[in-house]
Amino acid sequence: MAEKKSHLVIGAGITGISAARRLADIGEQVLIIDKNNHIGGNCYDYFDSNGNYIQQYGPHIFHTSNKKVWHFLSRFTQWNDYRHKVVARVESNLLVVPFNLTSLKTAFDKDKSRYLETKLINRYGLEHSISILELKKDSDPDIKKLGQFVYEKIFLNYTVKQWDYKPDQIDPQVINRVPVMISYDNRYFRYDKYQGIPKKGFSKMFDNMLNHPCIEIMLETDLKDVLSFNSYKNIIATSPIDEFFDYKLGALQYRKIYLDTKQHNCRSYQENSVINYPNDHNYTRITEYNKFLFIENNSTVVSKEYASWSKGFVAYPVFTDKNINLKNEYLKLAEKQKKLPLFFAGRLAEFKYYNMDNACERALKLVDNEINR
Ligand SMILES: Cc1cc2nc3c(=O)[nH]c(=O)nc-3n(C[C@H](O)[C@H](O)[C@H](O)COP(=O)(O)OP(=O)(O)OC[C@H]3O[C@@H](n4cnc5c(N)ncnc54)[C@H](O)[C@@H]3O)c2cc1C
Repeated sequence: MAEKKSHLVIGAGITGISAARRLADIGEQVLIIDKNNHIGGNCYDYFDSNGNYIQQYGPHIFHTSNKKVWHFLSRFTQWNDYRHKVVARVESNLLVVPFNLTSLKTAFDKDKSRYLETKLINRYGLEHSISILELKKDSDPDIKKLGQFVYEKIFLNYTVKQWDYKPDQIDPQVINRVPVMISYDNRYFRYDKYQGIPKKGFSKMFDNMLNHPCIEIMLETDLKDVLSFNSYKNIIATSPIDEFFDYKLGALQYRKIYLDTKQHNCRSYQENSVINYPNDHNYTRITEYNKFLFIENNSTVVSKEYASWSKGFVAYPVFTDKNINLKNEYLKLAEKQKKLPLFFAGRLAEFKYYNMDNACERALKLVDNEINR
């Protein structure tokens, strides 16, 4: 029998590219395919002919506490020192999200915000976080009222728009995880040590990762175009697991996103890179990408982002019992493919919410612990 020479990676998103590079680094030959006409998957970005920066699938900010992942990716890019902050337009104010002491000052007049600030600090302590649910249940009527304010003005309608839930269908556990921060630290990813955007964009970083003599890449190539899986040493699928098995057990459900992306002929469109719209308009947020790379230009590109069941690209797995059971059934099916050395990794293949750092970590561990044992 002919020797199997290379590994096949299906999907050139951050999971597939990280796995391919790790394999190449240990001298293994890899063929990586993607059905799209670009690499990078959901993290794909580019510069238009006017020099504006655009992330095609919505805002992506890299953040991690994982030193190994940070050092691995930092071989292929330099990072800028962008620190992400999110604000929500609530009536005429821009309130920092998650709601914190800065938001308190913006939302209320000086006397009221000082009064509430003192109460919050005395009750919960500076630099602590509490869930909205706890605030809403507080025995102090002023704190309770503040909890109700944050729930109604920032959380409720945004969640309904994003997930199409009615308020009584929102799992209290979800609300429980939404924090209010007793802090003036406005960073969104305050718990992650490493953060930034690649200075030349994510796609350039991915290009550099794939630039290795052991890696061959084929774009516009669907997994169905692969004639014989048997001729590869290992197959790493990062494409949707239900699609891999021709949806024979049914389709997994995702919340989709579509973007209305336009250029505006002004230097700055809005006050912050990302502004959430919890209460007004049908869109959930507006992103101005130039702000991620500190680009100052005569024009700028922004996306209005809408959540949908039918339109756009698959974004967030919907974790109902039915979907989780279905995913597990597919995983069992995968295990039965004993003849194939087949691995599923990444947000679509594992039907999981992965941040970029988790996706990269998963890929590195897969190669180090399961393939190159
Ligand atoms: C709106 C949004 C914002 C996000 N923001 C952040 C953020 O700020 N920070 C962060 O850390 N994470 C963020 N994420 C998560 C991030 O997008 C994921 O971590 C990342 O995309 C996972 O990479 P992946 O390679 O697993 O999947 P993907 O990027 O989806 O890559 C999978 C690849 O498989 C290919 N493929 C699919 N089917 C086939 C097929 N049949 N044949 C061949 N190829 C196929 C696809 O074309 C794609 O290129 C965000 C996600 C969303 C939806």
